[in-house]
Amino acid sequence: MTPAILYFSSQQASWRVQLDTLLSAYGQSIEWQAVQNINQSPALSIVLLEENGISEQDWPFLPSRKTIVIVDSWSLKSSVQWIKRGAANCFARDDERLAAWLVSELSQFSIHRAPKAEDDILQVIIDAIPAPIFFKDKLHIYQGCNTAFCQSLGVPREKVIGYSVYDVAPKHLADTYYKADTQLLNQGGAQRYEADVQFSDGSIHEIEFNKAVFKKSNGEALGLVGVMLDITERNQLMRKLDKTSRTDPLTGISNLREFNLIIHDELNQQKQFEKRLCLMTLDIDFFKKINDKFGHSGGDQALQLIAEWLQKKLRSTDTLFRVGGEEFYILMRDIDIENAFKIAERLCKGMATHTFLINQQSVHITLSAGVIELSPSTDLETALDMVDKALYEAKSDGRNCVCPVYQ
Ligand code: GH3
Ligand code: MG
Ligand code: MG
Repeated sequence: MTPAILYFSSQQASWRVQLDTLLSAYGQSIEWQAVQNINQSPALSIVLLEENGISEQDWPFLPSRKTIVIVDSWSLKSSVQWIKRGAANCFARDDERLAAWLVSELSQFSIHRAPKAEDDILQVIIDAIPAPIFFKDKLHIYQGCNTAFCQSLGVPREKVIGYSVYDVAPKHLADTYYKADTQLLNQGGAQRYEADVQFSDGSIHEIEFNKAVFKKSNGEALGLVGVMLDITERNQLMRKLDKTSRTDPLTGISNLREFNLIIHDELNQQKQFEKRLCLMTLDIDFFKKINDKFGHSGGDQALQLIAEWLQKKLRSTDTLFRVGGEEFYILMRDIDIENAFKIAERLCKGMATHTFLINQQSVHITLSAGVIELSPSTDLETALDMVDKALYEAKSDGRNCVCPVYQ
C-alpha cells in the first residue's frame, strides 16, 4: 500500500516542482496537497514541514505521521534533535537524498496496523449498539470504533484504528469534527453538536455528535469518546411539520401563523434598512352566497381558485396569506401607501372582471379591502385594527372597493 497523498506546507509550493521532476525520473509520482497544520493530515501521509514553520504545539504530532523536517542547512545535531522529537527524518532543502528517501518510502510503503485484540467485552458491547461509536486519543488518532461506525462510513476497522479523521472523511467535513475535538479536549467535559456526515454510499446524513473526554486519575485528558445519532429523518420530519403548520391546507398558501411568525422580522428589517412595507387585508364579498349556491365543497373550490388567482397577480416581492375563512392578507414589500393602494385597486378591479369557473358555471366574485403602510412607529396591533376598520368601511361603501389608511 502506498500513501496516496504527500502533504506539504504552503511555503514549499515553489520547491515542489523540483522534487516532482526528480521523483518522476525514477518512476514515482505524488499526489500533493497543501495543509496548514500537521495534525490536519491523514495519519497515513508523509508530511514535509519547514523547520521554521514548526511550533512547540506541533511536536506531539510529529511521531503520529511520517514527518520530514526540511532545514535550510543540515547538521547532525539538529537532525538528531528532530528525530528524537518524533520526526521520521531531516533533510536540507536542496539535498537530493530526500528524493532517494521518498522513492524508498513510496516503493516500500506498507503500514501494518495490527488491530488490537478486540475480543474483549467492551468491543462486544459497543458492537451491539446500533449507533456509530468511536474513541480517539488526545492526538486525534482513532483508538477504537464499533461495527455501526465502520458500516456507516464504509471503512473497515483496520483502516480506522491508528488513523485520523482526515483519513475517514472528506477534508471540508473533517475540519469541522477536528475543530470540535480540539475544543472538547481543551475544555474537557462533554459536547453535543450537529454536523453533516458522508456515509459510504455518498449520501449526506445529519448527525448529532455526543462526545466526552476521558481522563487519567490526575485529570489529564487521555482522549475522547463519541456517539453519532442519525437525526436526518427527525430533522426532515420537523421541517415538514414546521412547513405544514405554516401552510393553509386548503389553498397551499401561507396561513395566519406564518404571518405572525415572520411579521416581526419584516418590521425589524424595515427599521434597519429603512424599507417601506404595506399590508392589504381583503375579504371576499357575499361569500355565503357561493356556499349557498354551490355547497361547501363548491365554496372550497372557489377559495382555491381565488388564492390561485391572487397569487398569480402578486409581485415577486409580495406574500399572500389566508388568515381566515375567506379573508386574506397581502404583505407588500418595498412600496409606499400610494402605490400599494394602486395595486390593491388593480387587484379589486381585476377580480371583479375575472370569470371563475365553479362546477362548470361562470361566477363573478368581488373583494373588499383595506390597505395600510406599516411603520416602525405604530405598533402592529394598532395597525391591524386600523386596516380592519378600513376594510369594514369598504364593505359599508358598497363592497368591491379598497379603503386606504392614511396616517
Ligand atoms: P361579506 O363579507 O360581503 O359581508 O359577506 P360574506 O358572506 O362573505 O360574509 P361572512 O364573512 O359573514 O361569511 C363568510 C362565509 O365564508 C361564512 C362561511 O360559511 C364561509 N367560509 C368560511 N370558511 C370557509 C371554508 O373554508 N370553506 C367554505 N366553503 N366556506 C367558508
Ligand atoms: Mg369574512
Ligand atoms: Mg366575506
